[in-house]
Amino acid sequence: MIDPRTASATIDTDALRHNIDAIAHHVAPAQVMAVVKADGYGHGAVTCARVAREAGAPWLGIATIGEALVLREAGDTGPILSWLHGPEEDYEPAVADGIDVTAGTVDQLSSALMAAAACEKTARVQLELDSGMRRAGSDPAEWDHLCRAALECEQTGAVKITGIWSHLATADEPDHPATQKQADAFADAVAHARSVGLEPEIVHLANSAAALGHPELHHDAVRLGIAMYGIDPGDGCATRAGVELLPAMRLRAQLAAVRHVNEGDGVSYGHSWIAPHDTTLGLVPLGYADGILRAASGRVKVRVGNRTVPIVGRVCMDQFMIDLGPDAPDAVGDEVTLFGAVDGPRAEDWAEGCDTIGYEIVSRIGGRVPRVLE
Ligand code: PLP
Repeated sequence: MIDPRTASATIDTDALRHNIDAIAHHVAPAQVMAVVKADGYGHGAVTCARVAREAGAPWLGIATIGEALVLREAGDTGPILSWLHGPEEDYEPAVADGIDVTAGTVDQLSSALMAAAACEKTARVQLELDSGMRRAGSDPAEWDHLCRAALECEQTGAVKITGIWSHLATADEPDHPATQKQADAFADAVAHARSVGLEPEIVHLANSAAALGHPELHHDAVRLGIAMYGIDPGDGCATRAGVELLPAMRLRAQLAAVRHVNEGDGVSYGHSWIAPHDTTLGLVPLGYADGILRAASGRVKVRVGNRTVPIVGRVCMDQFMIDLGPDAPDAVGDEVTLFGAVDGPRAEDWAEGCDTIGYEIVSRIGGRVPRVLE
């Protein structure tokens, strides 16, 4: 673990609360399912789950059963949906703890049924349709079979079908035709499930982008991930929806060293950057082992005082260099903000510079960077 004075990811719980409130208001009467998988996109799952509950989120969404159990161990007692299950996974711990599991196949339904028998509790199961993402869930051609099998399971009393859901592939691109196709396939599947006799408590399709940009797709709940962390899902969705998002993670470090280099000096591995003039370099004690992408070199700026300065030379495993400029006033110990300051740079700027998405920038921040609550 890095000394929190040296570098930390400051988690702004007020910003998290603000983002959840703003989106809850935007999507009402649909409910918010706060998605806290992958350790809350790097922000800390337990903290984010607690803040989401305090902000009134009735549901939490998470990938694995193991992640859901961590939330239960931390004291969360509310509804949680998990959706990523391995082929030989034991659902019993989830069923025993009242965690909703996902079934996109009859085999997964059987696993839930077996778990229910083993722990003598009703398994809460949500059916997943593959409406077009082609990643997980039931193929529409198998949907009738899955619904009828689910109904049979319900009739044993061991299983309750609590929800029906699907995931969108292109909601962050406002006019992408695939979104409407998925929405139609999902609406048909929900209607069919009801006609067969299933009565789900919640039906949900929207991720952050659809929560912000597709009010017609809100159904009963939206699964809110990246926007809760204050990052636009893409293409200015939040701004267009009139929702202000505040960054929930600020990645900061202290300058570990300041050194003068001469014009022509090669810097860092491979000397891929040659100083174009005499200048001053600052050493930032975070590297690719901490989730700082190597692609950031030369493409991303960080904040030092009231200036933004470029990353230069290759990012190393534990450290990287920034060009502070020829007459830099900066000293060892001065604060560097990599992203998440109100006045920038933001994770979105890193994503643009590194040709990736804000999700990757925050969720990659590694385990040795202390999370400090604010
Ligand atoms: N639902 C599922 C099934 C997901 O896998 C994710 C995240 O990838 C989300 C919802 C949340 O998506 P977003 O972070 O875009 O809001």
